[in-house]
Amino acid sequence: MARNCASAWWCRRRLGLEWQKLLLTYVPLSLLAGALLAWAAYRLQRSRQSYREQLRRAMAAGEFHVEYQPVYSQVTGRFEGVEALMRWMRPGTGLVRPDIFIAAAEQEGVIIELTQHLLGLIERDMREWDTPPGFHVGVNIAPEHLSSEDLVPDVRAFVAATAARQPLLVLEITERSLIEDSGRARRNIDTLRAEGVRVAIDDFGTGHCSLSYLQKFPVDYLKIDKGFVHAIQPDGEEAPVLDVIIMLAHRLGLSVVAEGVEQRFQFDYLTERGVAFIQGYLFSRPLRSADFMAWYAGQAQPVVPD
Ligand code: C2E
Ligand code: CA
Ligand code: CA
Repeated sequence: MARNCASAWWCRRRLGLEWQKLLLTYVPLSLLAGALLAWAAYRLQRSRQSYREQLRRAMAAGEFHVEYQPVYSQVTGRFEGVEALMRWMRPGTGLVRPDIFIAAAEQEGVIIELTQHLLGLIERDMREWDTPPGFHVGVNIAPEHLSSEDLVPDVRAFVAATAARQPLLVLEITERSLIEDSGRARRNIDTLRAEGVRVAIDDFGTGHCSLSYLQKFPVDYLKIDKGFVHAIQPDGEEAPVLDVIIMLAHRLGLSVVAEGVEQRFQFDYLTERGVAFIQGYLFSRPLRSADFMAWYAGQAQPVVPD
């Protein structure tokens, strides 16, 4: 440019014009990009808020219900408990998958409220049940709830409200809860176990649980994830990882629960290895409270699956 300049004045003027052009092009562009970003952040914030609000509204509108999946004891040949699974029937949408709304509730900080709501629904359902004392009721507890000061009062309130049925409450916690614990989860577990509540590690083998956590945390049951159960072959070929998990649980003095059992050969494989509790479509899908009661009434005699 300097070479084309006839004079210093002309040169400065050319430079000024170039700058003006640059500013006129890029300043509006960057303003537009900034505005777009701010709008996107606002939308994200709103959609998050509104999801939280939607969950709260759904609780208030009674859109959640609980389904109960029976758990079979191979020791007694009877159904000794259930796992409570939450369902959201959303008007206009239908059933929302629990892993989706539970993950959203965790992200949005409403999982404790949602679990408190769940406990209330179970209490209401159990008023109609005719289950014996000690019947296991498994409830899934998210890591945030496990390590909160709400857990102990929430569980005590549930135990008091269901005292007429004297259920044995089993808190199903994940490996993640153990890893993220800063001390409070452990104290909560100790307090509640001393009061007769039991604890199961859910989806065992799918997280990043170091085996040392198993020694550190006092738990009662180890729940084998359905992925391991589905690895059992119909020809009876060994499933070495599953075998090691079962052996490990027994060495640690824990009872094993296998979930996702759909086939008779899976049942045989597991019971031959001393798995105490079996849960899965082989016996029953999760049922609404009234359907569960009717189903349970028909199970008076010990059962051996076909
Ligand atoms: P999960 O705790 O591992 O629950 C077991 C899941 O396996 C349930 O899915 C159940 O319906 C399904 N299942 C049971 N038997 C069989 C079977 O024989 N075969 C197969 N393929 N699946 C079987 P669901 O109800 O869709 O729940 C998915 C996950 O959502 C649960 O996994 C749990 O992590 C979460 N969840 C459900 N309800 C609650 C809740 O009330 N609170 C919390 N925190 N999480 C919940
Ligand atoms: Ca569970
Ligand atoms: Ca599970």
